[in-house]
Amino acid sequence: MHAFHDRPNPAGFEFWCEDLPLSRIADEVGTPAYVYSTATLAHHYQSFVQAFAPREVSVAYAVKANGSLAVLATLARLGAGADTVSEGEIRRALAAGVPASRIVFSGVGKTDAELAFALNAGVREINIESEPELHRLAAIAAAKGRRPTVALRINPDVGAGGHAKITTGSDDNKFGISSAETLRLYAEACSHPQFDVAGLACHIGSQITDLAPLRTAFAAMADLVARIRAEGLPVRRLDLGGGLGVAYGDGPEPPSPADYARVVLETVGGLGVELAFEPGRLIAANAGVLLARVIQVHARPGGRRFLVLDAAMNDLLRPALYDAHHAIRPLHRRLEGAPERLYDVVGPVCETGDTFARARLLPELAAGDLVALLTAGAYGASMSSEYNSRPLVPEVLVRGAEYAVTRPRPSYEEMLGRERMAPWLGRS
Ligand SMILES: *Cc1c(COP(=O)(O)O)cnc(C)c1O
Repeated sequence: MHAFHDRPNPAGFEFWCEDLPLSRIADEVGTPAYVYSTATLAHHYQSFVQAFAPREVSVAYAVKANGSLAVLATLARLGAGADTVSEGEIRRALAAGVPASRIVFSGVGKTDAELAFALNAGVREINIESEPELHRLAAIAAAKGRRPTVALRINPDVGAGGHAKITTGSDDNKFGISSAETLRLYAEACSHPQFDVAGLACHIGSQITDLAPLRTAFAAMADLVARIRAEGLPVRRLDLGGGLGVAYGDGPEPPSPADYARVVLETVGGLGVELAFEPGRLIAANAGVLLARVIQVHARPGGRRFLVLDAAMNDLLRPALYDAHHAIRPLHRRLEGAPERLYDVVGPVCETGDTFARARLLPELAAGDLVALLTAGAYGASMSSEYNSRPLVPEVLVRGAEYAVTRPRPSYEEMLGRERMAPWLGRS
């Protein structure tokens, strides 16, 4: 479900977000711009939680999917926690009103400074991802006189995910502690007076559209819990990560949260542990669109027709990075229907990879027309950059018929003003 939809107008149809025509935001805020729907964020968070009812679960939304303070605050008010992978993300979550008691700190390379920051903040749980990290955290906690709650992040050696670059759960990538080492390291963690060991965590990949690898991974986690308990050690919490995929308009339909919850409860539901999750994409992806305007249409000899947008790969990297598909729709459609054309939809950046879609069938478009790239709420703005000295795209949050610009587009002065000249180069 999402709250982006067509509404009729005298000329045809217009694309809206909740109770606002998106063209109004494009005209007032300018393009490109990210637009997020409050109702859609809330729907996804609540339907995930309700999929487990009457069982209570804790959901730490993965900040890296979309770290907008307004998005985080929207979710925090519904009761969401935050899964974070850097000090910056912990600070973001705190600034948005997520209490430290609902913040999980994950990540394969946490620095000493970041671990110390998390200890001082008093986060809910630190997920230890390797043996050296266990030793570093123990030393830092001892020096600070802190006793953090920790979990071991296990790599259950199950590959999953929509693309090789987003698979995290197999032995040949960098994430987590192998099953073979788990017992020894769990016992070691429990022996540290410095640690309150809550249990185990895993996260096997992202954009997972098949429940089979999740079932295998969760069953492996259940098996580890049994083996740890057989050693007389306690396990009270399982954090099963994020990873559930969404529909991008190509590829398979992802399982519903209800189907996912059934697999969770069948595999680990009987262990008598607290269940925690870290969904990111599932909550934010289709709660956001990227608005763009057509700069020009450019026909090449040989017949290819390029639709050049004012949005580019620096604003939405997923197509260039993962060959990801995003549905594209014009904000206005004429009643009688425009003829359709095949377009290569590209941005203005000087890279061939700056291509949103190849040979995409769209209603005929002209310079100045507005389009929306759908399902851009996760790993969109959060992965954006200023490549080609393009200022970061503004972010807008819609609620009903109102909207707020939650991150204004920086001016060129602000963008350049962040830099300093080297003293030997004089003043610029
Ligand atoms: C990225 C990440 C998530 C969120 O993944 P989604 O596919 O967006 O649900 C959760 N946990 C960890 C540890 C992650 O790195």
